This record gives sequence, structure tokens and C-alpha cells, in this order.
Amino acid sequence: MRAHLKNGPAMKILIINSGSSSIKYRLFDLKKDRLLCKGIVERIGSDKALISHDAGRGRCFTGKVEACDHYKAIRHIFDILVSPKSGVMNSWADISAIGHRVVHGAEMFKGPVLINKAVIKAIEGFNELAPLHNPPAVLGIKACIEFAKGIPQAAVFDTAFHQTIPPYAYTYGIPYGFYKKYGIRRYGFHGTSHKYVSQQAAKILKKPLSRLNLVTCHLGNGCSITAVKSGRSIDTSMGFTPLEGLLMGTRSGDIDPAAVLFIMEKEGLSIKDADHMLNKKSGILGLSGVSNDMRDILKRLREGDKMAALILDIFAYRIIKYIGAYTAVMNRIDAVVLTGGIGENSAVIKSMIGRRVKGFLSKFRARLIVIPTDEEWMIAKETSEMVGAKNR
Ligand code: ADP
Repeated sequence: MRAHLKNGPAMKILIINSGSSSIKYRLFDLKKDRLLCKGIVERIGSDKALISHDAGRGRCFTGKVEACDHYKAIRHIFDILVSPKSGVMNSWADISAIGHRVVHGAEMFKGPVLINKAVIKAIEGFNELAPLHNPPAVLGIKACIEFAKGIPQAAVFDTAFHQTIPPYAYTYGIPYGFYKKYGIRRYGFHGTSHKYVSQQAAKILKKPLSRLNLVTCHLGNGCSITAVKSGRSIDTSMGFTPLEGLLMGTRSGDIDPAAVLFIMEKEGLSIKDADHMLNKKSGILGLSGVSNDMRDILKRLREGDKMAALILDIFAYRIIKYIGAYTAVMNRIDAVVLTGGIGENSAVIKSMIGRRVKGFLSKFRARLIVIPTDEEWMIAKETSEMVGAKNR
């Protein structure tokens, strides 16, 4: 299991990433710099709920569980952590803190925060901004409070890293009242990943992050790209929702909104239908008609498929376009970082981007580097810092 911190704080930190029908978890020992176990409860709410637990060195377990709701699922996670066979600790009391991944912190949360009643209420207040993500995160938090009484908990937000984006980059050109009334603006997502790879880039480049300008590309199922100036996010491609920007697995990325209105009218689509089309049926899936998975597209490319070639060109072109735009707004650049499932693994995508930006990066003596992301570890670190700060 991966190692990160050499002389970190003495803490076992449980990370909970609670989605609508699944809860992922990881337990880190930051003192020993180790991931103790990880797992997932899936299909919560159905009678086919399943827990998969991996404590390393072959100590894996997969089995059916009764998890009709998030409370039951969290209960199973706590049970398995201390179970004689697959567990990794004697008592829940050994957990120093729990860190929750929360997607939307809107303008209120500019960094991680210790959870209390007011914080829960605030997160619930942003449910409308992230209807698929914030409500299950709150369920996970409330369940942990119930089962792990007295253990401090922190929320780490996907949006927080992007709270340094200036108003001229986050304000859309629509009647300003909509910003004031509904908070319509660019928020950006994947913040924990962009922050993590920025910190790792600083280590690789042997320079303080505060003196680096980076363009970080998170290329997974969802894709986003961020301009990191002097270590701070100053612009990012995802917007009010994760739909904007790059071409993604099932999301369209940038599109003229008038095209959407046109399609809605022609096809008689409801708002819900259009939302589904743009978020679930577009992107790589919509273009290929067969798969949202980049590996399938690369396989088809090798077989000479023309559509696969077009999809890869669109995918890479948008990334290159954003790299150029972000370099222009930062004036100078030290590195472009690739991360996420595609960014970390695809030599083809790396070389497509590398070929097109090589000349341009060489003007700044900038590098194109691949850095594996680790959002959970970042959440663990931020959680331990929050708790440490409180105890000082
Ligand atoms: P998520 O955004 O859901 O966390 P990941 O970061 O795991 O997803 O990225 C998933 C994407 O990474 C998929 O499109 C998958 O095809 C792609 N991927 C994984 N391995 C490779 C590989 N070896 N080559 C190209 N793409 C890959």
C-alpha cells in the first residue's frame, strides 16, 4: 500500500466518500505512513448491497450486506474495521478523526472545516447546487456522528481549492441578478486532486509551490483543467456544475447553450431529459455510441476506427486549447501536469498533448509531467491538520 508521509502526525484517519448508492472508505495511519485498508459498500438501498474490503497482503473480503440506507452501510464499515478476521484495529476509539469528501462548499468553505451542526446545515443549504452529491455526503456525516461519538470529523470540499479564482474568471456574462439570487458562477471541482498534484509537482520540480505556475489536467471519467498561479487556482474548466470544459466520459464539456435549447425544442426534451443527455449520454459515449471508456476508444483507434481518431483529436485539442489559454493568463508556466485514470496511464494521450505543446513549453523551459493523484490521502492530511490545529 502506498506510502507518503515520513514524519507525519500520529493519527489513524478514516476517509468517507459517500455517494448516492455507494460509500467508499479508506483508513490511513499517517504516523506509519500507511494505508491500512480500503473498501466500498455498493448498491446501497437495494437488496443486492455488497461490501468489498481490502486490508492488503491478500486480506480481502467481498460479501452481501444488508444496507437499505447509508446508516446501515456506515455501520457495516465500522464493523469490518474491527472485525477479528478482516479488521485492522481493536476499537473504533483508535480512529483519531474522520474526513469526509464533500463536493460542494459554495462560497462559504474556502478550505477544510471541522464538522459541527452549523457546518452540516450549511452543507445541506448547498444541496441544490450539488443535488446528487451533497445529500449523500450529509447522510454519511450524520451516520458517522451517530456511530463514532466523540471522534472529530472534518469536511474537505471539491470546490475549496478554486475559491481563489477572481471574480472576472468566475462570473458568467448573464444578468448579474442570477449570481446574487442563485449563486450562478463558476465554482470548479476536482479541487482536492488539483491541489494534491500541485504539491507533488513542487516536490518534483524542487521549488516552493508559491513560486510555481502550473496547468494541472485531471483526466478521468470526469475531466477538468486548472490554472495554478503561485500555487493558487486562478481559473478552472468546470463551472457552475462539472459539465463545462473538457470532453469527458459521458459529459459534453463546452457547448453553445443555444445548441441545447435548439435540440430541446426539436426533440421535445424536458429539462430533465436535456440534463441527462448532456451529463450521461454525451462526451466520449455520445460521440462513439458505444463506450465512455477511453481504453475502448484507444482499442478502436488501433483497429483503424475513424470515429475513435476524431474523438481523440477532440479530447486532446480541448486540453491543448486550455493549456494555451491558461499559459496566456499566467504569463509564464513551469509545468503541465497530467493525472487521473487517462492522464496517468495513457501514453497515447500524453504524446498527443506533448507533441502539440512541446515547442511552446520549451519557451518557458516548462515540463510535461505525469503525477498519480491521491485525493483520499489529501483528505486524510487535511483532516489531520484540522484536528491538530484544534488540539493545539
Ligand atoms: P474517475 O474519474 O471515475 O475517478 P479514473 O480517474 O479512474 O475515473 O479514470 C477513468 C478513465 O481512465 C477511463 O476513461 C479509463 O478508460 C481511463 N483509463 C484507465 N486506464 C487507462 C489506460 N491504461 N489507458 C487509457 N485510459 C485509461
